[in-house]
Amino acid sequence: MRKKDGTSGAVGPRTAGGKAPAADGPVLPPRLERLAEFGSNLAWTWDRDARDVFRRLDLNLWRRTHHNPIDLLRLVEPSRITRLAEDPAFLERYDAVCRRADRDSEHHGTWWESEFPGLGRRPIAYFCAEFGLHESVPIYSGGLGVLAGDHCKAASDLGVPLVGVGLLYARGYFDQRVDTEGWQHDGDATFETSRTPLERLFTPDGSPVLTRVYGSNRKIHIGAWRLNVGRVSLILLDSDLEENAPEDRELTHKLYAGGVSHRLRQEGLLGIGGVRVLEALGIEPAAWHANEGHAAFMMVERARRLIAAGATMDEATAAVRATSVFTTHTPVAAGHDVFTHEQLEEWAGDNWDRIETRDELLALGRHPTEEGDRFHMTAAAIRLSGKVNGVSERHGSVTREIWKSMWPERDVAEVPIGHVTNGVHLATWMHNDIMDLLDHHLGPDWGLRIDEDGLWDGIDRIPDEELWRVHQSLKIGLIDFMREDARRRWRDEWSEAAHLVGAGTLLSPFPLTIGFARRFATYKRADLLFRDSDRLLALLSNPRRPVQLVFAGKAHPRDDEGKRVLQGVYAHTRDPRFEGRIAFLEDYGLHIAHRLVEGVDLWLNLPRVPLEASGTSGMKAALNGVPMLSTRDGWWEEGYAGENGWSIPRAPEKMDQKEADAHDAEHAFRLLEEEIVPRFYDRPIEGPPAAWIQTMRKAIAIAAPRFTARRMVQDYVRDYYAPAVAASSEAAAGTSSST
Ligand SMILES: *Cc1c(COP(=O)(O)O)cnc(C)c1O
Repeated sequence: MRKKDGTSGAVGPRTAGGKAPAADGPVLPPRLERLAEFGSNLAWTWDRDARDVFRRLDLNLWRRTHHNPIDLLRLVEPSRITRLAEDPAFLERYDAVCRRADRDSEHHGTWWESEFPGLGRRPIAYFCAEFGLHESVPIYSGGLGVLAGDHCKAASDLGVPLVGVGLLYARGYFDQRVDTEGWQHDGDATFETSRTPLERLFTPDGSPVLTRVYGSNRKIHIGAWRLNVGRVSLILLDSDLEENAPEDRELTHKLYAGGVSHRLRQEGLLGIGGVRVLEALGIEPAAWHANEGHAAFMMVERARRLIAAGATMDEATAAVRATSVFTTHTPVAAGHDVFTHEQLEEWAGDNWDRIETRDELLALGRHPTEEGDRFHMTAAAIRLSGKVNGVSERHGSVTREIWKSMWPERDVAEVPIGHVTNGVHLATWMHNDIMDLLDHHLGPDWGLRIDEDGLWDGIDRIPDEELWRVHQSLKIGLIDFMREDARRRWRDEWSEAAHLVGAGTLLSPFPLTIGFARRFATYKRADLLFRDSDRLLALLSNPRRPVQLVFAGKAHPRDDEGKRVLQGVYAHTRDPRFEGRIAFLEDYGLHIAHRLVEGVDLWLNLPRVPLEASGTSGMKAALNGVPMLSTRDGWWEEGYAGENGWSIPRAPEKMDQKEADAHDAEHAFRLLEEEIVPRFYDRPIEGPPAAWIQTMRKAIAIAAPRFTARRMVQDYVRDYYAPAVAASSEAAAGTSSST
């Protein structure tokens, strides 16, 4: 953000003591002086023009820096920037980015403002243990984080005054390495805040310590960083401060590392610290949203404060409930976070001893049908939230069933838990080239008319040849990417050539290519098709209609069973019988996710029903015209419409797990053999497969209006945030009239 005269630009970071992101980058010519600003807000990640600007600055460098605008600006030849300052096509895009950034800096004319003019601009605080926004900020592990990131991006688009609250994991999640035996090793992720738009926040007198919490009978000092996500600020808490004891400094180093007590301390930091950091920053939320039970202490802390200020337990609970929203993502009773009272006491120490209502506060986490001293984060969040939801229609009913004992007097259908089906952020997940096609055939403003009746009928106007050409080029892009990734790992990491076959270097751009990428949790059944490897072999190596499979995904560092599934898949990648047609891509993350969902022909999803609360990767694939074959679970129960993919019929209830697995495998094979492969290869000698392309069109037309984050955030606003914000204004009006 340096002008030629060295003064700072007009739109710098709003942070006292914050750094200008490209302070050590080149001196920018006046015509392009806002270039550095572009990288200081993650809005560039979903702005087609901004991505194009960075690509044009230097395509090779852009790839080499893993799409990092801050690094790019540091490294680009100054003479190139000078030349581009006179390139009309470049300037046109540059100016478009400036206009968008200016629009983002205000809030007029947004959906929020026009639909809910009475709600004002006091923020909704959105707490989550992880956020997946871009691969350069690795503070996510998977679906939950990516969903939270997409939620923030859509809130920004819609003008919803959201402020995100999370933890800054200074050492990220982990880098995955797979050895020649197929065993996953969890390497340290590398993450340097100076190469990201993160800005440290300071108190007015320049201290990085914004607030404190007590933990294990000592003070933990808490700092925070801000990440700008379009109009949304994300506040990330950090305990790695000199003032802290070494074990407290480590608290925020890594995501989901360590055992239960570590997790408890992290969640305490997020919930309690988060409330206090917002206060220290002068942010007064009108409503509070806990995304998954990890953040439930945020509600407990708010109740505790009200009690400390003189409220009764009932008054405090009622006040917190009126302004709180809780989303659960777990479809099994055993999957929720639980701590013993002993663990809680050990951690809370004196902090809770000072509260007379300690027992009542602990009772908030009591499971309705369980004896003993355990604190259930989900139970606490349900008790303290006026609005509770699951993440798909089916998961809503599963959740009502799991928690119905909290309302013993009610019928399960009357349990007050609803659902908001997840969605993915369209401009993040749909490839530029597909968007260009839609510009051409639906009109350049289609992005603003996404939910308009009839708009998506227009997708039939895209000619087969055009859609196929774009798809085929994305597929070649994936195959090139795999080859380059293998080349790099061969140079830097691998000592045995055997790795190269398994990395997909033998894949070809023509066969039907199936993608399967997700966490290696056993319920996701990455190995389902390998249970009949002869049948799989016949499918893959059919000389006239060959099929290829590409896998990616991490197992949780502590999940040895998941690692064994990965190992089983990996062994097949190098089995010569499969002719190099099965690949495993290491280190699944946002970048690989993008490559896969846009570059394969078919997305495969095989969770054991009903264990997938929603699932989102299939939505990302659909936006790129990649149809899905899936069990009937999560969002697919709503999303499968007959023409946009394939659905494995539900196994009869009476089957045990083993029988259900066999049933699902049989149907998956049958659909592949009898419908999917024939449709893909049904084409004239020269020309695209018309029936297949029709399925691609339907995949896009159904996902874009219904399974995107725009619709999801609109649902949250209408049914969850608006009532909470209204309750908050009423409470405020009540206080002011009584004082
Ligand atoms: C979308 C996404 C996920 C979640 O995918 P599911 O289908 O819900 O398993 C996980 N990891 C990454 C990197 C993603 O982009």
